[in-house]
Amino acid sequence: MAPRTEHGHGAPSPLVDRFGRVHTDLRVSLTDRCNLRCTYCMPAEGLDWLPKAEVLTDDEIVRLVRIAVDRLGIRTVRLTGGEPLLRRGLPGLIARLTALGPELSLTTNGIGLARTAAELRAAGLQRVNVSLDTLRPERYAEITRRDRIADVFAGMAAAKAAGLAPVKINAVPVRGVNDDEILDLVEFAAEHGYRMRFIESMPLDAQGAWNRDAMVTADELLEILGRRWELVPVGRHGNAPAEEWRIDGTRTVVGVIASVTRPFCGGCDRVRLTADGQLRNCLFATEESDLRALLRGGADDAAVESAWRNTVARKGPGHSINSADFVRPERPMSAIGG
Ligand code: SAM
Ligand code: SF4
Repeated sequence: MAPRTEHGHGAPSPLVDRFGRVHTDLRVSLTDRCNLRCTYCMPAEGLDWLPKAEVLTDDEIVRLVRIAVDRLGIRTVRLTGGEPLLRRGLPGLIARLTALGPELSLTTNGIGLARTAAELRAAGLQRVNVSLDTLRPERYAEITRRDRIADVFAGMAAAKAAGLAPVKINAVPVRGVNDDEILDLVEFAAEHGYRMRFIESMPLDAQGAWNRDAMVTADELLEILGRRWELVPVGRHGNAPAEEWRIDGTRTVVGVIASVTRPFCGGCDRVRLTADGQLRNCLFATEESDLRALLRGGADDAAVESAWRNTVARKGPGHSINSADFVRPERPMSAIGG
């Protein structure tokens, strides 16, 4: 997609940090709310939601994405949360964002997708990632604390039928919880024409209960997959976080997002906007820039652009999960936008 040049400065100058990383991908959290309570993400109860007045309006999101695309060279936008399908008027927002030109995708738990997939596709959404950690209803209810697996299966099928392609499945394997289903999940995805991806669990749960020993590492995953299949490395698409392997002799590709054991910070091209308008230069950042205050204080586009560039300029070389001085961000994953 050619960059737009509405602000009259020619092509946008790249959003580059002091390590030379060019940022072209934006994650936008549409809400911190969720209708599930996945154990690796949220406590069973008692997480306060953002007050409505603090959440960006559609107009504010559209304006920030327009600045990102026109002035900063952002080319891909992923909508997330919390659960982004809970946002009222989502098809209308997607249509407005699509008109700005970026490639648009969405990460969802899939609940409600059966009802909305066709409308979201028609509004311009291109792809979805659906989270599913198990194929077993009772286990799903234990992991997510809600008995909704049938809605997720229906949502994925509707996404595929609507032409949201490819449908990717995200699973977080946890030792002793669902690590015995890794092969089954790959087979399920292959059978239905979905693409399976496994995400190493990260210390970003709201309750601070992450335990490194429970994380299934990329090496372990590959070892488990390798017991059944011959794997051919495919590598990474550009700066995508997933490393991919193809099952030899098939078209089945499995992705692994190994943020903890194989960090990909050196190629990171991503910035994040929280539902309350805070710009983060890293999932693990401990600082944020308050773009909402700028917008509501009457800042012009140039001032927002400048704040955005300054935030990216301060980006560190990488996260320090594996070092003793690692500090967890105050916001959990659900409030940052995973
Ligand atoms: N609610 C949507 C969903 O579940 O897909 C979007 C937001 S969710 C925070 C985005 C992704 O982050 C999901 O695939 C989820 O499995 C993953 N996730 C949540 N907590 C995580 C954690 N502590 N470590 C690794 N991945 C996590
Ligand atoms: Fe909700 Fe997604 Fe977190 Fe699960 S992972 S609790 S679906 S935000």
